[in-house]
Amino acid sequence: MPSSASSRPSPIKNVVVLGGSYAGGRAAEVLSKVLPEGYRVVLVDRQSHFNHLYLFPRVGVVPGHANKVFVPFTNFFNSPALPPPATLPPPSLTDPKTTIKGLKSTYVHAGVTKIGEGFIEVDKDLGVEVTGEEAEPVEEVDEEEVAKLGEKLENLGMTEEGSSRRRIPYEFLVYALGCKLPPPLVTPARTKKAGVAHLEAQTKRIAEASSILIAGAGALGIQYASDIADLYNNPENAEHRPEGCVSPKKITIVHSRDRFLPLYKQEVHDEVYDRLTKLGVDVVLGERLALPSVEEELKVLNQTRTITTKAGKEIEYDLLMRCTGQSPNSALLGEFIPEALNEWGFVKVQSTTQVDAGESTRKTDNIYVVGDVADANVIKAGHTGWNQAEITIQNIMSSVMCNVKGSDTEGQEPTMAHYKPSPPQIKVTLGLRNSCSELLPEMDAKETIIAKKDDGPIDNYWSLIWSRMGISTEDLTV
Ligand SMILES: Cc1cc2nc3c(=O)[nH]c(=O)nc-3n(C[C@H](O)[C@H](O)[C@H](O)COP(=O)(O)OP(=O)(O)OC[C@H]3O[C@@H](n4cnc5c(N)ncnc54)[C@H](O)[C@@H]3O)c2cc1C
Repeated sequence: MPSSASSRPSPIKNVVVLGGSYAGGRAAEVLSKVLPEGYRVVLVDRQSHFNHLYLFPRVGVVPGHANKVFVPFTNFFNSPALPPPATLPPPSLTDPKTTIKGLKSTYVHAGVTKIGEGFIEVDKDLGVEVTGEEAEPVEEVDEEEVAKLGEKLENLGMTEEGSSRRRIPYEFLVYALGCKLPPPLVTPARTKKAGVAHLEAQTKRIAEASSILIAGAGALGIQYASDIADLYNNPENAEHRPEGCVSPKKITIVHSRDRFLPLYKQEVHDEVYDRLTKLGVDVVLGERLALPSVEEELKVLNQTRTITTKAGKEIEYDLLMRCTGQSPNSALLGEFIPEALNEWGFVKVQSTTQVDAGESTRKTDNIYVVGDVADANVIKAGHTGWNQAEITIQNIMSSVMCNVKGSDTEGQEPTMAHYKPSPPQIKVTLGLRNSCSELLPEMDAKETIIAKKDDGPIDNYWSLIWSRMGISTEDLTV
């Protein structure tokens, strides 16, 4: 009979981090280095590699770089993490004798399927119960095998709850599952091989298209429009084009608002508008499109068709890129604490980054929510998720240390840190080497400043993230 992992006392207490991207990854890397003995991080992500999303549009347009945006998690807990927040760790925690130094922290490649009180469940058999000292790092399982296993269980009428080998107990939970991305970035890929194949297929579709319609001009639409135009319509970049491509291309970007990136200064709009028009992109602002359904779209794939804007402008295209629509991955938490979701499905949070569970009677003070999925009253961005994670780290550490025998705060109430939303900041690329940014010159500066650049590398500093994750860049296929 499988034992119930959640009902058994565990010699090692897990801080389970769901989602190893910009927000969850930051929480996991620092916590694994500062948690005292008896605690460890279990990082769960359905991706086999860290997906460096910022560069996805670029490597989906320019061929030959897709391998660079998938970084193995293999050295994650030994990586040279950037320094923890200034308030952490307190001196007593840096003593190697009292810390695990990340050795027992674990990355689990699996999809999360359920959250319960004190445990989570994943979509594959972990091979070990992730409960105690004896637990070994989990072996990688082939995605096909996982799918087959899921089918087998379904055929047997079993639920995941039937096996405690799918269940991981937690003392603290960090929920950082982000958002479902707009269509060009959505992929069922869970491995590097499949992710690279997805991006290479996108590169090929773009190369073969004669006329491209980009619907939506947030940062993503702007990046695709300017990269495609710079690659295919700028003679200086001919050497970077794939063989047999169609060049030049007609590129149209349509936006329902009459201003680009309205959260930012007028100068940002002006720069985006100037660059796009200089690159020959047809810019249509203040117009809505009645787009065909995805099913309709599939029937006419690669054929030239025409769409008429509500104001009567006709746009011809043979490739449509829908660059709108991002929705939160909050369903799992919502099933456990329905009170925690706001009307758009984002998770309500307190300034401590703990979930705001309203009237819920469940135990929720050990659940933290960070990154794009959180309604943190700040723009959705990697850097804001990272900053929220810093607060989570401090608060989990403060709670943990109040329970550690002999610590300075043993038996006291934890002192909670509070997240302060920062003003909107952005860096948007405007072609293969150009960018415009509006950033705070220092963390506590009052006013953002605008900077324009025209000498960025085409593969956009990808190797920095590999070094940070402790991975050599010699073999990009790992
Ligand atoms: C093209 C582009 C460029 C960008 N550029 C910038 C930039 O320059 N600066 C900036 O600050 N921000 C930028 N952003 C925004 C930034 O990427 C997001 O805000 C950031 O990814 C949010 O991080 P996150 O950790 O909250 O979630 P995500 O990055 O969405 O990660 C969620 C993680 O959860 C995992 N996951 C989801 N569901 C499950 C499940 N059921 N089981 C297991 N794992 C699961 C996913 O695999 C993923 O690893 C950019 C975004 C895009 C699309």
